[in-house]
Amino acid sequence: MGLVVQKYGGSSVADAEGIKRVAKRIVDAKKNGNQVVVVVSAMGDTTDELIDLAEQVSPIPAGREFDMLLTAGERISMALLAMAIKNLGHEAQSFTGSQAGVITDSVHNKARIIDVTPGRIRTALDEGNIAIVAGFQGVSQDKKDITTLGRGGSDTTAVALAAALDAEVCEIYTDVDGVFTADPRVVKKARKIDWISFEDMLELAASGSKVLLHRCVEYARRYNIPIHVRSSFSGLRGTWVSNEPQGDQQVEHAIISGVAHDVSEAKITVVGVPDKPGEAAAIFRTIANAEINIDMVVQNVSAASTGLTDISFTLPKAEGRKAIDALERNRGTIGFDSLRYDDQIAKISLVGAGMKTNPGVTAGFFEALSDAGVNIELISTSEIRISVVTRADDVIEAVRAVHTAFGLDSDSDEAVVYGGTGR
Ligand code: ADP
Ligand code: ASP
Ligand code: MG
Repeated sequence: MGLVVQKYGGSSVADAEGIKRVAKRIVDAKKNGNQVVVVVSAMGDTTDELIDLAEQVSPIPAGREFDMLLTAGERISMALLAMAIKNLGHEAQSFTGSQAGVITDSVHNKARIIDVTPGRIRTALDEGNIAIVAGFQGVSQDKKDITTLGRGGSDTTAVALAAALDAEVCEIYTDVDGVFTADPRVVKKARKIDWISFEDMLELAASGSKVLLHRCVEYARRYNIPIHVRSSFSGLRGTWVSNEPQGDQQVEHAIISGVAHDVSEAKITVVGVPDKPGEAAAIFRTIANAEINIDMVVQNVSAASTGLTDISFTLPKAEGRKAIDALERNRGTIGFDSLRYDDQIAKISLVGAGMKTNPGVTAGFFEALSDAGVNIELISTSEIRISVVTRADDVIEAVRAVHTAFGLDSDSDEAVVYGGTGR
């Protein structure tokens, strides 16, 4: 008997009908002779609604109580899903992340999983139950406090459980038919990818393709867990993400795997920084001490007359306020004139292992943006990715232009988006 882990995202369980539809799918997997562990997200936009509520009672909600609040969303869906399965005549038990043995560090709101001890899940399975686990949450090893794994973290819960339970596959059910060459909400002519390597998927996820979370792909690669991303609304086969293609999984030998975009970041410019050793170190130590991850960094050439330079970097919008406060508090020791904050930016990235060996990709990317009249503000590259920051207003046009320029447009079907609000 095989063991499968299935994860259903918020859009798949947005209402009672969705929960009943998903319950049927889960029961079918069980009837096919599998042991089934299900990881479920909060219903629809529940997490966003809980965040809005928290913001009404506190300007920047964070920490322990914020995690307590957010984990309530997944508790609702896990219990309802277990009830719906029982109603279909099958046994199911729901578990919080803590009960399922998801042990994390104690960084509230973006905890990392450090161990998974799924003893209770194993017992539930051995007793013939379907186990339903609340995604996106765990318990901290030292303080035994409830933690959350960061937005989209249910994907990571699913892969971590799949690894701990030695599952054959981790199925991620969502509101589109798989991983596409661009977000199907933005590019109707995006193409579904049949198979993609962990390497390319990691870059797409890191660049904002939220169909899979970056940490989840990292985890899957480390433990070599194949992921099958597919729709909970259709019976279609989706996208396989793994080290090597298996069986009939088709590999497209395209240079480019896809185009990703991200509007969740902001840009901070530190203006008037003395151009001498130690200045950048002081700025980024301040940011690191505030537990903020940064993305791109650019330093301007300093003006010869003043010996001062500007340093810009991008970071999650949600951390913008914290970063500005931390820099202001350390202004005396760092030494700068002023800070500029800009949250009307977007990042567009082109990803593909083929770019390592194909000259002209960078030129083609910039030409496509230029033809679309899109101005570039920051640039960063890795071996298999080029990213630029542009105005947020330009993002849709830029993604479509780049997608077309690299020959990624599908000439047959339009990509289907079955549900979700895209929030
Ligand atoms: P869930 O609620 O199932 O976790 P998410 O909203 O987190 O769903 O992720 C699915 C969404 O990811 C899709 O609706 C789509 O808009 C978006 N997306 C972004 N980039 C891609 C891509 N390259 N392929 C497929 N979906 C993508
Ligand atoms: N409910 C959480 C969120 O919206 C976690 C998840 O859906 O993966 O971010
Ligand atoms: Mg998600």
